Amino acid sequence: MARIAVGGFQHETNTFAPSKATYADFAAASAWPGLTRGEGLFEAVAGINIGIAGFVEAAAAAGHDLLPLSWSQATPSAQVTEDAFERIVGQMAEDLAAMDSLDGLYLDLHGAMVADHIDDGEGEMLRRFRDVVGPDLPIVVSLDLHANVTPQMVALSDCLEIYRTYPHVDMAATGKRAAAQLDALIAGRGGRFKAYRQLPFMIPLSSGCTYEGPAKEIYREVKLLAQEPGVTGISFACGFCPADFPDAGASLVAYGETQSAADAAAENLYAAAAERESAFALEVLSPVEAVREAKRIAAHADKPVILADAQDNPGGGGNADTTGLLRALLSEQAEGAVIGNLFDPKAAEAAHAAGEGAAVALSLGGHSGIPGDAPLDAEFRVLRIGDGRLTGTGPFYKGAHMQLGRTALLELNGVRIAVASSKVQLADQAMLHHLGVEPAAEKILAVKSTVHFRADFQPIAETVLVVVAPGPVILDNRELPFRRLRPGLRIMPMGPAFGTEGGSAAS
Ligand SMILES: [Zn+2]
Repeated sequence: MARIAVGGFQHETNTFAPSKATYADFAAASAWPGLTRGEGLFEAVAGINIGIAGFVEAAAAAGHDLLPLSWSQATPSAQVTEDAFERIVGQMAEDLAAMDSLDGLYLDLHGAMVADHIDDGEGEMLRRFRDVVGPDLPIVVSLDLHANVTPQMVALSDCLEIYRTYPHVDMAATGKRAAAQLDALIAGRGGRFKAYRQLPFMIPLSSGCTYEGPAKEIYREVKLLAQEPGVTGISFACGFCPADFPDAGASLVAYGETQSAADAAAENLYAAAAERESAFALEVLSPVEAVREAKRIAAHADKPVILADAQDNPGGGGNADTTGLLRALLSEQAEGAVIGNLFDPKAAEAAHAAGEGAAVALSLGGHSGIPGDAPLDAEFRVLRIGDGRLTGTGPFYKGAHMQLGRTALLELNGVRIAVASSKVQLADQAMLHHLGVEPAAEKILAVKSTVHFRADFQPIAETVLVVVAPGPVILDNRELPFRRLRPGLRIMPMGPAFGTEGGSAAS
């Protein structure tokens, strides 16, 4: 039996997004629990599809003594404030320092955190925790598939285990792999040799979906290489592109019993990714093109056509309140279509005040000041109101107790709009059931999500079309005003390199 400290602090930082993550954002519950410190941690995370839940389940079953630090996360946004970073990391370091005779440390991190005062959030956390526990204590970290893995993160941890699916249906499973890694390291069986490579091109968010195409093949390769003799661990991160700092982008890590085993696995995986560069290219439609195509397909389909409003995904730093795709549904007269969840607490409040069946004049959405976007002023009918409390039932949000605040289903010219008071991407059918909508019975569904919705919606979909309406989660990296990437990094597959023409201004 070993004594293991466990904790987590997660944020996916889109440095181009409109609003920052404050301490209050980490403290509050949304789709996941709010900041939980100490003993309450285990109950708060139990049964949820997140890394720490899988780790705790596996490590407790192995008979280890688990000591809680804190676990928190905030919805992706711009930088974590200095106050939030210092308070949360400070608490964790303080609790860690108070624990004696530790055998290991497990951390449930994202891997793409940027704070106001620190580019490499996870690397800095690891540096501070390493200072507390010393150079020899095994530290194992689970990371999101969208981690921007830095040299510091690799150097200061003993093993990084990264999700292998997008949608992330394997978050808890990754925590279990992390538990096995820490077990082995504590027992002196773990691979102490590391290899780390950064890819020379960025992978656009929607091209990292592991249901199809090159990402599916890459993660199949990860599983095969993990079984090679002498290899003790191997992971691939697609990276998170809208993060303007030198270590942004895709990368991989491998661990082995010898340096040559780790190096060989890393080289093989690097080659597998490099030869698929062109296959990672982006395929998207404009809002009007997408709605026309959806109507054409839906006319002869039994199942819904799903439109991914991919650039306003609150899981990628969007505010989930842009109106571009909604406007196209209205202008193309996509009667019967449903779009959600649009984040607009004021509209939800007005709908509640008016009541079901009433008409209400609203300036709906469009409050984020995104260029090319604006509120939609109209009189809407309130079809349904809700309290926003529901439990996720799909593979991604399974078991998550969501608190979306006041919700409402509005209608305008036959198009229905699901409105919520908390920013959570529409990635679970329960979020629509909550407002009386049965997704499988619909013709056209538009979701404010980039890829995670596929876990629950692809099985009921006729097809999925990826739409680029104006929004902060830019899929075509050529539109991002990068200033601080590493020279030579191609910002799109086969695309221009940073610092050259078309690769954003380095000046
Ligand atoms: Zn992710």
